[in-house]
Amino acid sequence: MGEAKPKTRTVRIVCPPNADGVGVFCFDINGKGQFYTFREIWCDIGGRGFAVHRLGQGELYHVRVGKPEDTSCECMGFLRWDRCKHVAGLGALIRKGELKQG
Ligand SMILES: [Zn+2]
Repeated sequence: MGEAKPKTRTVRIVCPPNADGVGVFCFDINGKGQFYTFREIWCDIGGRGFAVHRLGQGELYHVRVGKPEDTSCECMGFLRWDRCKHVAGLGALIRKGELKQG
């Protein structure tokens, strides 16, 4: 009783990458959408690299997704907790096969 409902968060591709490699994905958090543009960037230090930008806001984060040692993000959440929704979201899209390696 009185406990907050756990957040439900799903992630999906809204626009697959276009000819410039720029696509849009969306987090649905308790029914509210948060849209991000993303572009895969060449990464030669392990993992897959993405530049991720939340639409309507200034921050641009460089995110790496891969094995734990190849995972990183520039956001405060990752710096503090070693995990964040950017890494989780992109990782989920890769696991679902929605982000094919180009
Ligand atoms: Zn992050």
